[in-house]
Amino acid sequence: MLDELENWRKTHYTKDVSLELAEKEIILGGWVRNFRDLGGLKFLNLQDKYGERQVTIKKGVVPDDIFNKAIFGYQDCIMIKGTVKTFNKAPGGVEIIPTDIKILNKTPEKLPIDMTGESISALDLRLDNRALDLRSLKNQAIFEIRGEILKSIRKYLFNNYFTEITTPKIIGSATEGGTELFPIMFFDREAFLTQSAQLYKEQLSGVYERVFEISHCFRAEKSHTKRHLCEIFVLDIEMAFADMSDILRILEELIHNVIKDIRKNQLDSLKLLKMENKTLVPEIPFPRYTYDEIIEIIDKKCDIKIEWGEDISTEAYRALGDELPGYYYITHWPMSIKPFYIMPSKDPKYSESFDLQMGWLELTSGGTRVHNKEQLITALNEKGLNPKAFDSHLRTFDFGMPPHAGVGLGIARWLTFLCGLEDIREAVMYPRTPERLTP
Ligand code: ATP
Ligand code: MG
Repeated sequence: MLDELENWRKTHYTKDVSLELAEKEIILGGWVRNFRDLGGLKFLNLQDKYGERQVTIKKGVVPDDIFNKAIFGYQDCIMIKGTVKTFNKAPGGVEIIPTDIKILNKTPEKLPIDMTGESISALDLRLDNRALDLRSLKNQAIFEIRGEILKSIRKYLFNNYFTEITTPKIIGSATEGGTELFPIMFFDREAFLTQSAQLYKEQLSGVYERVFEISHCFRAEKSHTKRHLCEIFVLDIEMAFADMSDILRILEELIHNVIKDIRKNQLDSLKLLKMENKTLVPEIPFPRYTYDEIIEIIDKKCDIKIEWGEDISTEAYRALGDELPGYYYITHWPMSIKPFYIMPSKDPKYSESFDLQMGWLELTSGGTRVHNKEQLITALNEKGLNPKAFDSHLRTFDFGMPPHAGVGLGIARWLTFLCGLEDIREAVMYPRTPERLTP
């Protein structure tokens, strides 16, 4: 028979149980992380979303019915009412002596994945059982850091006069051209899931001047790399009365501040991931290289030839990452490999665009945008896109569009790097890849 919740409510989370609560009665709730039955003495580690605490159940000390009831399976969902006692040997210097127990749900004898930390189940098996897997201490740490990133990004941007926007995810035509989109049925018409907030954030920079959005985008690429997903979560920033140089400064300051906050507020999580000596606050400004300089470094130091005007191959990026392991910018990419909305440089072979790299990995792409309607129509034609399909977007350029610039940053890719993970799927609660639609 399972117990009912009734009027029991948690008074504390495990992290709040400290020596100051000694001799007080509290109620904790969570899951059984570890249970040892030594006969007259039983030890229970109760885990909740913030950590764990030891519950000590000793015959003669706790009521007999409670002692007899205290038989737990791994990951059973329970609540404990009890008194906080100081006990040096317990984690955190306290233990809880129960006066009452509720067993709210039981688990089967054998769970599909091992979460004791003794062995790590294969990633696909873990993802199949994600709601259980996410309770592991490692995953708790990863997603605490993710929470800190999102909180810290918002704090920094609000302090710098940015407005948070929300743009549609169902769109009628492609953002940057027809590829890589998921088509959907919109009643009896075809529509698409958005691939980026690009056009809308540009429009809204003509209203709120400094805007940002943190939300989903969808990429219908059949990539099987450890850095690509089909559903991504992106920080988009757009600034009016600004160009690429302003974005480079804002972005590096943002990165610097967010990592400072992670170290300040999530050092224990970094320690658990063994990243406390690796995820360090980077010095700013970040080194800046032009595309031309980068292909020369790749040629001279890595002995890989990149034809001018070509994208940098994964192999070349890997080699480059050995040369330049930290954060750095690659600016002034050839216009030929940039989208229509990017502003050409004075020499129009080049563009006012940049990527921010972390070693071999691309973290963001951004640049100055075209704000003149005629120039934008020419650019669309040059890229082989039909300006008619962009009619409603182009119209906004008749309304006094200011010069503007912006950037997009993949949250999961950054989190993968900050947590020292092998695979981007570990940095997402429920990843979507070409093979995976559940859970
Ligand atoms: P890549 O060249 O690595 O495939 P991209 O240049 O196509 O990326 P952008 O369109 O510039 O990507 O998107 C902005 C940011 O969003 C990227 O810098 C990256 O951090 C993230 N991102 C883009 N595509 C993906 C994806 N499929 N999975 C995870 N993150 C992505
Ligand atoms: Mg890019």
